[in-house]
Amino acid sequence: MSHHVQRAITWGARRGAPRRIATLSVHTSPLHQPGTGDAGGMNVYIVELSKRLAALGIEVEIFTRATGSDLPPVVEMAPGVLVRHVTAGPYEGLSKEDLPAQLCAFTSGVLRTEAMRDPGHYDLVHSHYWLSGQVGWLAKERWGVPLVHTMHTMAKVKNASLAGGDAPEPRARVIGESQVVEAADRLVANTVEEADQLIDLYAAEPDQVAVVNPGVDLETFCPGDMAAARRRLDVPEDATVILFAGRIQPLKAPDVLLYAIAHLLQADPALRHSLVVAVVGGPSGNGMAAPEHLHKLAATLGIHDVVRFQRPVRQDVLADWYRAATVAVVPSYNESFGLVAIEAQACGTPVVAAAVGGLPTAVRDGVSGTLVRGHNPVDYGLALRDLIRAPRLREDYAEGAVRHAASFGWAAAAASMAEVYADTLARSAAPRGRVVGGQ
Ligand code: UDP
Repeated sequence: MSHHVQRAITWGARRGAPRRIATLSVHTSPLHQPGTGDAGGMNVYIVELSKRLAALGIEVEIFTRATGSDLPPVVEMAPGVLVRHVTAGPYEGLSKEDLPAQLCAFTSGVLRTEAMRDPGHYDLVHSHYWLSGQVGWLAKERWGVPLVHTMHTMAKVKNASLAGGDAPEPRARVIGESQVVEAADRLVANTVEEADQLIDLYAAEPDQVAVVNPGVDLETFCPGDMAAARRRLDVPEDATVILFAGRIQPLKAPDVLLYAIAHLLQADPALRHSLVVAVVGGPSGNGMAAPEHLHKLAATLGIHDVVRFQRPVRQDVLADWYRAATVAVVPSYNESFGLVAIEAQACGTPVVAAAVGGLPTAVRDGVSGTLVRGHNPVDYGLALRDLIRAPRLREDYAEGAVRHAASFGWAAAAASMAEVYADTLARSAAPRGRVVGGQ
């Protein structure tokens, strides 16, 4: 018996937590580099949460679609955490929009894996994003275990605040999400606001929804020497650095930032010689169609000399970018939480963010940064100008930012999630027994 299983029994017996769970992440792998394509906050969330759950003694097996012929069927990502690659459709060239047609193949791979184990191998299924929820729904019924589901983003929410010209999410997704809400024993929302959206827009039962704030890796993302970080990144030590990090797509509104910079420079031309606007990340989603769009926009606005585009980087390098930044900007049209905002704050960097979705939870207005209503670039330019001109205020915000981020550790998130699992198992124990017994 492995050390992990032993600990799981001890902890699980005491707290009623699962010994082993199946985590479903159909459309993106926890082994992918976040910050481009379909890999972003959800990947970070699954990696960090799984590692911490395993440390609590809950073994995690993550199922994801294989996107290369050279991938081994199973990879040990961390002690107690396995990634299982499921073949479902061609390895390459499938977009997220093509995946609904592969859900049968994926489900069959998941069920086959479980069928080769002893009965009762998994105590619970946790699916992430609606595509995985569809698979989880079947696995739950087949295995007679509860389904916990996290949406990460929701079509109805996204469609209500689309960037100009962005394509709406299809009706099939809305239908699929509603089915998952109906099938799930428990829905985990990132914030109270997301919980309300599940209840108001998707008719979730209030006691079906639990709130678990995501976290930040406080070891990787911690304050450090700004000058040293700038040297490592080849940024002048006396620069004013404005940072955008994340997947480049209309939803994230990097264009709003570029327009804001144009306004800022118009109001304060002297800033130009010291300004560096770093855009760290790669094209994603609806931004894939025209990856050069942002470069062109910078040229059209006459600010290409101050904008520096960087390919996605590992999180330890991203931490340097946060430390090097004077201010980080998150102007998204919607964000279920906004990990970038919380990571920047953990590094002591004030954030200017849109007052949407989870960002008002992730950023404390007037304490760790500035929340801006709407997406008028003039307002973002003014918020940036106020912070750039006031080093004392930035220092105050930096302190507030570190304090605020400290309450979002992943260990706390994993402990809450383990409680949710235990509670879900306890609640479903009796009815589940009846269903299984009646078959
Ligand atoms: N990220 C990264 N490298 C990059 C850019 C981003 O590792 O070059 C990570 C970042 O640390 C964060 C995640 O990608 O954890 C983005 O999460 P967020 O919640 O901000 O946005 P999402 O991708 O979920 O829309």
